[in-house]
Amino acid sequence: MTSTRTSPIATARRLVTEIPGPRSRELAARKLDAVAGGVGTTLPVYASAAHGGVLEDVDGNVFIDLGSGIAVTTVGSSAPRVVEAVTDQAGRFTHTCFMVTPYESYLEVAERLNRLTPGDHDKRTALFNSGAEAVENAVKIARSATGRQAVVVFDHAYHGRTTLTMAMTAKSVPYKHGFGPFAPEVYRAPLSYAYRDGGLSGAEAAARAIDQIEKQVGATNLAAVVIEPIQGEGGFIVPAPGFLPALAEWCRANGVAFVADEVQTGFARTGDMFASDHEGVVPDLIVTAKGIAGGLPLSAVTGRADLMDAVHPGGLGGTYGGNPLACAAALAVMDTIADEKLVERARRIEEVVKARLRSIQEKDDRVGDIRGRGAMIAVELVEPGSMTPAPALAKAVATYAHREGVIVLTCGTYGNVLRFLPPLAISDAELGEAFDVVEDAFATSGAS
Ligand SMILES: *Cc1c(COP(=O)(O)O)cnc(C)c1O
Repeated sequence: MTSTRTSPIATARRLVTEIPGPRSRELAARKLDAVAGGVGTTLPVYASAAHGGVLEDVDGNVFIDLGSGIAVTTVGSSAPRVVEAVTDQAGRFTHTCFMVTPYESYLEVAERLNRLTPGDHDKRTALFNSGAEAVENAVKIARSATGRQAVVVFDHAYHGRTTLTMAMTAKSVPYKHGFGPFAPEVYRAPLSYAYRDGGLSGAEAAARAIDQIEKQVGATNLAAVVIEPIQGEGGFIVPAPGFLPALAEWCRANGVAFVADEVQTGFARTGDMFASDHEGVVPDLIVTAKGIAGGLPLSAVTGRADLMDAVHPGGLGGTYGGNPLACAAALAVMDTIADEKLVERARRIEEVVKARLRSIQEKDDRVGDIRGRGAMIAVELVEPGSMTPAPALAKAVATYAHREGVIVLTCGTYGNVLRFLPPLAISDAELGEAFDVVEDAFATSGAS
C-alpha cells in the first residue's frame, strides 16, 4: 500500500545546523523552567515530524531513527493506516469509557490478541494504558487466581516505574533511587546471561533459579514468575536456549502463573510475532504495550481464560483503558504487520545489523558481545581485552551518532550497552547509512 499522503519531510539524513540547533536550544532552556527536572531526555533535539525511519527536528535536521521511541513505532511513526484509522475514529467518538458504554473496537483488539499470542487455548484480554499498568494488572490477576501473594522477577529486569513495578525492576539509579519503600512480596532470581555467567546452559541457569525460588520463596507461596523473554532496559539479554521453557514447565507443574512481559519484545520486533514464540513457550499471561498501537498509549494482558476470569466483576479496569483512538490504531498496526510482512522484515534487519556489527567487532575488541533478535539488537561494550563494562564508550558512540544525525539508545545494568531498535518501516538505504555512522563512531571514539 502506498502512503495516503506525501511525506512532509525528506527521507534521508540531513544536517543543516549544529546539533542541537538554535531552535532546539531555545526549547531546552524553556524546558528547564517548565518541566520537572526528573524527566530526562536522551537527545537534546526537539521533534517536528517523523515518518517511516526518519525524524525531523525543529531546526530542519533529519535523523535516521534507530530507536523507534523505545520500540514503539514498530510500523513507523505516523504510519499511513494508523493515521487514517485514528483520524476516522477521532471524528466519531474520542472516549466513552469502556466500563460505562462499551464499543466494538475494544472487543476486536481483544479477539485479535487472543488469536495472535502464543498458544491456541481459550484466552481473554483486558486493555490498559501503559506497560507498567498492564504488568501490575497481570500480577493482580495471578494473585487473585492463585490465592497466593509472592512474585518472582529476575536480575537486570525492567517492568516499569509505578510502585509495584518499581519493586519488580532491578536497577536502582535512576528507577528506584530515593523512591522507597518498595512493595513487599517481590523476590529476585538469577537470570541466564551467557556472556557474564560463564556460559551456563539454559537448563543449568534454570535449575539455579528454580533452586533459589524453592528455597527462598517456596512454590506454594508463589503467584507468578514474571520475565522478559529478552530483557529490554537490562541490556537486551537473551537467555540461553532452554531457560525459558524450563521455567515455564516448572511454573506449570507448581500452579504458578508464568507471565511473559513482552512490552518491548512484542509485535514482530524480534522476528516473531512475540519473543516467546521463538522457543515455543506458551505463557499463562502475556503483557504487551509499546509496539501495539503505533505510538498511541495502549497496553494489554492476555491469558488463559480460567486465570483471567478468576477476578471478580469490576476488579479490573480504568478510565482510559482501551481508549477508542488507541484501539483503532492497534487494529491498523496489526493489519500493517500482516500485510507488509513485518515479521520477515525484522528477520532481514537482524541479518543486516548483525553483519555490520560483526565487521565492527573484527576491528575493535571493545565490542564484547553482539546479541538480540530481529530488530532488537545490542552490543555490550567492554574495556579492551577484558569483560569490564565500558559505559563511557557507549556514551561516546551514542553522542557521536546523535551529532551525525542518527538516533541510537543505550541501556544495560552497567550502562555499557548500545541498543538498536529501528522501526520496521526503515529502508535498507537508511539502515546502511545509519550503520556507516555507527562504524565511524567506533573508529573515532578513543580508548574509553
Ligand atoms: C517499557 C517497559 C515497561 C513499562 O512500560 P511503560 O509503558 O513505560 O509503563 C515494562 N516492561 C518492559 C519490558 C518494558 O520495556
